[in-house]
Amino acid sequence: MGKVKVAVNGYGTIGKRVADAVTLQPDMELVGIGKTRPSYEAVRAAERGYRIFIAGSGTKADFAAAGLATAGTAEEMIAAADVVVDCAPDKIGRENGKKYQAAGVRAIFQGGEKSDVAEMSFNALANFDRARDRKTVRVVSCNTTGLARAASVVVPHWGVESWEATIVRRAADPSESNRGPINGIVPTFQLPSHHGPDVRTIFPDLRTATTAMVVPTTLMHVHVNHVRLTRPPADATAVFQRFRSTPRFHVFAPWEHVDGTPQVMEFARDRPNGRPDMMENVLWEAGIRVDGPDLYFFQAIHQESIVVPENIDAIRAMFGLAEDGATSIAMTDKALSIPHP
Ligand code: NAD
Repeated sequence: MGKVKVAVNGYGTIGKRVADAVTLQPDMELVGIGKTRPSYEAVRAAERGYRIFIAGSGTKADFAAAGLATAGTAEEMIAAADVVVDCAPDKIGRENGKKYQAAGVRAIFQGGEKSDVAEMSFNALANFDRARDRKTVRVVSCNTTGLARAASVVVPHWGVESWEATIVRRAADPSESNRGPINGIVPTFQLPSHHGPDVRTIFPDLRTATTAMVVPTTLMHVHVNHVRLTRPPADATAVFQRFRSTPRFHVFAPWEHVDGTPQVMEFARDRPNGRPDMMENVLWEAGIRVDGPDLYFFQAIHQESIVVPENIDAIRAMFGLAEDGATSIAMTDKALSIPHP
């Protein structure tokens, strides 16, 4: 088949990154982006040559007043696409889904939607093949993506009896000025948190329990994992070597002097290509320990970008553009300049 025509509906933190990523793939083309109103981000989209379609309650007059040309309505964009990647805010994706269904167009939803919004929940390392030929797929949230990737390594190699994770969540994305806390630690009084059940939409048999809290930072989430293994390795070396040799993981060595998320994001800013994003799960050699049957490890998750390559792989799986997950992941990583082991 020719290139898959991809529309991105919702052009915020995730949508703008997914749109850029689509334009870098050899087997996909961007039909355009759905935008509700003019903004600095819409100007950037126009500068990049993306066609802007009016979504939600937006009007052509509003865009025209800002000097921005529009190519039509979101409905017209949807009709011109093979697949829509919905990147609208939580719960609006489900509403938008009615339009995709009415147009008979395939759709990918994000993790802010409940899992029943789509036929399946997706993670490229864990269940690429299950997405083949699907009409609707949900790419799980940033935290669930991070946990599902890690489970894809740990479960097959050492077996899991139980997995507890505490999720230390960033308060806001760097571009958000209306969220907090700015001074305090806020426990999430949902015990256990929703992340564990969300991981089980991908690993149904995994015994996992998660708890969460929000802290005043915009620089990544951090997971504190305690995993009881059924076939533990002798020591942590085998664990960090395994993570290091798996795509979509970056393991820092002690000599790199990356003490926490500030240096991780500085490392990302110093990389030569594209946005200063960190699309890999970030682990630290010094932050992995095996003690008898118990594995402990920290991992940091860049909330703004970790799901971007997953959306690309989901498209490839749905349209049979790659023979398997490993092939798709390699293609995506090459196109997005994600270092590939
Ligand atoms: P965002 O608020 O940054 O962007 C959403 C965009 O959609 C905005 O530009 C908004 O104006 C636009 N929009 C509003 N109504 C719309 C409509 N009816 N049709 C089309 N567009 C509309 O949100 P985000 O952070 O990019 O989140 C998008 C999805 O990705 C959510 O499901 C979220 O849970 C998920 N997600 C977010 C993060 C994150 O950390 N930001 C990480 C992973 C997954």
